[in-house]
Amino acid sequence: MAAITMNHIVKQYGDGFPAVNDISIDVADGEFMILVGPSGCGKSTLLRMIVGLEDITSGDMMIGDRRVNDLAPRDRNLAMVFQNYALYPHLTVYENIAFPLRLAKTPEAELDKLVRDASATLELDEHLDRKPGNLSGGQRQRVAMGRAIVRQSDAFLFDEPLSNLDAKLRGQMRTEIARLQKRLGITTVYVTHDQTEAMTLGDRVAVLKRGILQQLATPRELYENP
Ligand code: ADP
Ligand code: ADP
Repeated sequence: MAAITMNHIVKQYGDGFPAVNDISIDVADGEFMILVGPSGCGKSTLLRMIVGLEDITSGDMMIGDRRVNDLAPRDRNLAMVFQNYALYPHLTVYENIAFPLRLAKTPEAELDKLVRDASATLELDEHLDRKPGNLSGGQRQRVAMGRAIVRQSDAFLFDEPLSNLDAKLRGQMRTEIARLQKRLGITTVYVTHDQTEAMTLGDRVAVLKRGILQQLATPRELYENP
C-alpha cells in the first residue's frame, strides 16, 4: 500500500482551466517525491489538498488506506514544514520541539523522552536551551523537522522551503534535508520550481505543467529522457 495515493485529483477554482487536472500519483512508504514545475502549474494547490488546506473538487486522496478528502488537517497526521519554519522566537529549541506535545497534553515524562530522542536524531542535543534567533539556518530547519518528528507524523510536506535562501545556504540545506530524510525514512512530498533541487533530492520527480502531470520518473530517467 502506498503511503499517499492521489487518485484522479482535480481542483477547479471558478470556471477557468483546472489548477490541478486529473493527477494520479502514488507516493511509496519512505519515498522522497518531488512536485516540480513553473509558477502557476498547480504544485502548491496539490500539496495543500494533501494536507487538507484546500478542498478537493473531485478524486480521492488516500493516506495509507484512509480516504482523507473530508478530514480536517489536524486529523491527517501529516507535518507541513513551511518556508519560514514557523518557529516561536521566544521559546527555546526544546520548547519549540515540545510544542505539539504540549498542545496534545502529553504527560511530562513521555514528552521529555520524545523531545530528547528527536533532538538526538537531529543532532540538536547541545542546542536545546538556545532560541531560534541564535541558530543557523540549517539548525532552524532541523528544529522544524524535530517538531514534525515528535508528533510521529506519517509524512513530511515541504512547500519551497529553500526559496528565500541565498545559493550557498540553499546548497547546504539541500544536502541536509536529503540526509535527514534518508535517516528518518519518513515519506516526503516536496514542492519546488528549482530543477536542481528536484534532480538532487527526489527518489522520483513529478513534473507538472498547467495542472497536468507530464512526467513521473526517477531523476536518472529524466536525465536520460528529458
Ligand atoms: P504553483 O504552486 O505551481 O505556483 P498554484 O498551485 O499556486 O501553482 O496555482 C495554480 C493555479 O491556480 C494558478 O493559476 C493560480 O493562479 C490558481 N490559484 C491558486 N490558488 C487560487 C485561489 N485561491 N483562487 C483562484 N485561483 C487560484
Ligand atoms: P505561491 O506561488 O508562493 O504559492 P501565490 O502568490 O501564487 O504564492 O499565492 C499566494 C496565495 O494567493 C495562495 O494562498 C493562493 O491560493 C492565492 N492565489 C493564487 N492565485 C490566485 C488567484 N488567481 N485568485 C485568488 N487567489 C489566488
